[in-house]
Formats: sequence, structure tokens, C-alpha cells
Amino acid sequence: MRAVVFERYGEPAEVREVPDPAPAPHGVVVRVEATGLCRSDWHGWMGHDPDVTLPHVPGHELAGVVEAAGARVTRWRPGDRVTVPFVCACGSCAACAAGDHQVCERQTQPGFTHWGSFAEYVALDHADVNLVGLAEGTSFTTAASLGCRFATAFRAVVAQGRAAAGEWVAVHGCGGVGLSAVMIAAASGARVVAVDLSPRALELARGFGAAACVDASAVEDTAAAVRELTGGGAHLSLDALGSPATCAASVGSLRRRGRHVQVGLLPSPDGTTPVPMSRVIALELELLGSHGMPAHAYPRMLELVGAGVLRPELLVTSTVPLAAVARALAEMGTAPGAGVTVAEPWS
Ligand SMILES: [Zn+2]
Ligand SMILES: [Zn+2]
Repeated sequence: MRAVVFERYGEPAEVREVPDPAPAPHGVVVRVEATGLCRSDWHGWMGHDPDVTLPHVPGHELAGVVEAAGARVTRWRPGDRVTVPFVCACGSCAACAAGDHQVCERQTQPGFTHWGSFAEYVALDHADVNLVGLAEGTSFTTAASLGCRFATAFRAVVAQGRAAAGEWVAVHGCGGVGLSAVMIAAASGARVVAVDLSPRALELARGFGAAACVDASAVEDTAAAVRELTGGGAHLSLDALGSPATCAASVGSLRRRGRHVQVGLLPSPDGTTPVPMSRVIALELELLGSHGMPAHAYPRMLELVGAGVLRPELLVTSTVPLAAVARALAEMGTAPGAGVTVAEPWS
């Protein structure tokens, strides 16, 4: 099969022939029809992710058709249209038994722990636990645009963040996951303040339902700007970018008893990020993490997508062939950009 392969961190990837994958007894091989490009792919390519070993094929936001199923798979057969969360759970550890597949103790992640979906085929483990069926009316491109970013944003806003109608929700960083969060929070009836350096990203955020915007390139203290716009601070704030500055700004933009959800990855060299803990204590803030979304939580989100309440396809700003992925991957470092790029191996 053809796949996008890199041999060294940070050096150009290339499309080349590699052996076809085979399904594990509990797994499937999916023929990739569309796959999203994400900033976590860039982190993996740069060597920031300890799970990645070389040579490597990135890609974890995929949709496609089951090509082959292992002997122990009971729920899926060749021809089924599917997508999958980026965290593939084992289905049998203590976290999985509690329904918390997104923090599975023995998780695998296509494009990180093994070769991913910037390829014609991808192998996925524990298919009965992890695959999500797609309705005929849901296009592969729309399904690829769901995850990780849209599904991650859905869990961050709805489950971890508990966004409620009428609340103020601040979203720091309006790339793919941030814009998804804006759309989901607005659909939940919350009033959204979008924060970003890019006028283009803020324009998109406004289109997706943001009630107010803070231009971080023109404002010295974005946290203070959010507190002023919201009459004392947001009830819920998300760091959707993942940087020490946006993390601190998100915590700083909360009102008393507010909730901060960390969604953007924070890969600093020593793995730690400063947080204004004095404020966390004095205001009784909650600090929460959000890590993907389990397959069993997808039906509720897909229902809202099917009803047109949530429109992840609006986030897709470009569709490129597999051959263009290497360049798009490199560009993510300098210009993460607004919106989502989806690669289609057959185009
Ligand atoms: Zn597990
Ligand atoms: Zn992703």
C-alpha cells in the first residue's frame, strides 16, 4: 500500500510503498477514505511524543470501510462504514470496566503507538470496543473531521466542562479543536467568548456562534478582557491551544468556582506547565483534563450531527491528496491555521 512515512523527526515525510497491515485476532484493517491532519500529528513528527518509534506513519482522525476483520471480531464485517476514537481502548482494564475508555490503561493510538491513517489501510485493535458505525448519510470527510478534535471538544465542553445554557464559556485558541468547542458550546446554549491571535480564526469563531471575541494580538491581558466581557469571568474556560500562556490565561479568565478544561497538549521539555494556583484556591476553581472520547459516547454526538445541530463539516477548509500531507504537516508548526485539512488517499 501507499503511506506517508517519515524516517527522522522533523525531516520531510514521503509517500512510498510499504507492506499492507494485517488485522489482529480482535482487530480490523480499515480502508482509509478520509483522514484529518491535526496538530498532534505535528507533535509526533517533531519527536514530542514518546509513543512514536521510527520509521513512522502518522494519522489518527480517520473514516473508512472495514476491509478485513480478525477471527474474534463479532460486531463488524468487511464493507461496514466506520470511524474510531483516537484512543483505542483494550475493553478489559479497570478504567474500561468503569466505561472510561478514553483513559484506558492499555490504550493504543493509531498514528502514535502504531502506524496510522495517512495510508491506504490502517490496522485498529479491539474493534468490537472501539469502532463507531457511520450512517449512510454521513460522509467520510465529515466523519474524519469529527476526531480527534471535534469529539475531544465535545467531551471537553459537554462532559468534563458541563457547559450549561446561559453560562459564559471562554475558548482560548481557535484552531480545529477550539472552533469545534465554540460550535458545541454555542449549541449547548452557552454564550461563547473566543480568544485568538488571528482575525481569520475569530471571524470563523463568530460564524460558529461566538457571542464575543478577544483579539489576543491587540490586547495585553486576554484574561482581563474575558473577565470584563463576561461581567466577572467565564463559568467555563478551555485552553484549546496548549501553551503555558493560554493555559494561564484560561485559568485567569474564570469567575469564582469556575471550571478550566485543558484540551490542548502541553509538551514542554520537563512535562510541567505553571498554573496560577493561588487563584485556583482563592476562587475555588476546578482544573480538569480532557482526553478524547470513548466510542460508546459517540451516538449522542452523531445524533446532533445528523440533525444538523452540530456541523463539523464546516470546519473542513481544505481537502488534499495523500501526496500533499508531508508539506501540510511541516506547515502546521509555523502556521497551525484555522480549520481542518482532510486528506483523501484516493484523490
Ligand atoms: Zn482498557
Ligand atoms: Zn487529532
